[in-house]
Amino acid sequence: MPLNLQGIQMKTFSVKELLSPDHLHQEVTVNGWVKTYRSNRFIALNDGSTINNIQCVVDFEEYDENLLKQINTGAALKISGTLVESQGKGQSVEIQVKEIKVHGGADPEVYPIQPKKHSLEFLREKAHLRVRTNTFAAIMRVRSALSFAVHQYFQKNGFFYVHTPIITGSDAEGAGEMFRVSTLDNKKPPLTEDGEIDYREDFFGKETNLTVSGQLEAETYAMGLGKVYTFGPTFRAENSNTSRHLAEFWMIEPEVAFNDLDANMDLAEDFIKEVINYALENCKEDLQFLEQRLLDEEKSKPQAERSEMPLIEKLKFVSDNTFKRVTYTEAIDILRNSKPNKKKQFKYLIDEWGADLQSEHERFLVEKHFKCPVILFDYPAKIKAFYMRLNEDGKTVRAMDILFPGIGEIVGGSQREERLDILLEKIKALGIDEKELWWYLDLRKFGTAVHSGFGLGFERLVLFATGMGNIRDVIPFPRTPQNAEF
Ligand code: ATP
Ligand code: MN
Repeated sequence: MPLNLQGIQMKTFSVKELLSPDHLHQEVTVNGWVKTYRSNRFIALNDGSTINNIQCVVDFEEYDENLLKQINTGAALKISGTLVESQGKGQSVEIQVKEIKVHGGADPEVYPIQPKKHSLEFLREKAHLRVRTNTFAAIMRVRSALSFAVHQYFQKNGFFYVHTPIITGSDAEGAGEMFRVSTLDNKKPPLTEDGEIDYREDFFGKETNLTVSGQLEAETYAMGLGKVYTFGPTFRAENSNTSRHLAEFWMIEPEVAFNDLDANMDLAEDFIKEVINYALENCKEDLQFLEQRLLDEEKSKPQAERSEMPLIEKLKFVSDNTFKRVTYTEAIDILRNSKPNKKKQFKYLIDEWGADLQSEHERFLVEKHFKCPVILFDYPAKIKAFYMRLNEDGKTVRAMDILFPGIGEIVGGSQREERLDILLEKIKALGIDEKELWWYLDLRKFGTAVHSGFGLGFERLVLFATGMGNIRDVIPFPRTPQNAEF
């Protein structure tokens, strides 16, 4: 163990460890960044391990003025001293400082994260420093806990984690616009006789893109390992500048052999509830902080725009209550007869069966009509992907979307079409090249079986769990149209 100047043994702890009751009256060392320094005497130090700071009490007469001058918000320090019961209010313990080392200062004239309120927009431009604020540190700790909970849930329930490719050669996924991956000279690409870009000369000998979903590949693994999940980066070049879309996001996609749509819905509901419960149990202080942040933010809003429940109550509500399961057809009836439809308040009025639901409709169902999470299922085949299983009625498919308050769609899933002839017909009708999907079709030729899965956008889950309003604030470095800084 290292000795300090006075020859005392100093053990290094995190702030979180020091705030637990175990180390009282010990000689301790802690590293961290200064949150505030007041009255030339009290340093609030934080190292990211917890939302709480450790108070360090300095006898300023004992220290060189030049050293004290460097103790500004944002400076990195190493502090040693005795952990004692606090005299002041607001904390149970504090460090009586014996030694200070400045790792690095932070000039208050230029360091942007000063101890005052910064707008989320301002902090987005400082994404490399924003994790030093309480809000972003809390969000990112919750994000980390949730991603652990995702793995824990699946591993505990017999699922295998598969890594599906990020570069994909199949362009039939149909889930949105893709980002091309190419090493061709973009100024002078090789051309075919028809003047098109000749991808045969590209790195992979064909056109390739960043994946929009790992589902099709996950299906192949489910048909051998039984229960699998993916959890990886996903890319969509959709030019939708909304508060719920990113160009690069993380998607969780379980896929289960022998599960039908009902079992798929059960899995999705159980999964979401359990990961939210994990956060409730393991991120109490961060969630309390985020709940207060939201209450403060909403104070300036009219009553009608405020959340109906405080954050923690809302999370408990979701984990304690059964999600409402409704067919698309029932939902259309509700929407057609709804006030905003009759009064023409919807931007897209619901007129006929078969209409695609917009987020205004989804949010009406969840927030105004049912007032709880809703699973919509049995959608018209026309508005859903080719691989979803056709129902007996010949016009709906075994699709399900889970809709959340404040978020809209959080999960999209389905029972997959396992019948070769019907799948082939569908592919032909949509003009998809059968040859592109030869391997996917093989699954229907050899040992085909009922199977189902879904995709959950991880950032939408984090958005919900943290009570934040913009998806750009729940991923460290958001990628959105016109924005790939950092
Ligand atoms: P939306 O209608 O909201 O654009 P989608 O129907 O295109 O979503 P799916 O293809 O069903 O989405 O993808 C499954 C899940 O992935 C969605 O339910 C959502 O949680 C998430 N997701 C989809 N697109 C994005 C995106 N651009 N950014 C973040 N999450 C996304
Ligand atoms: Mn969807």
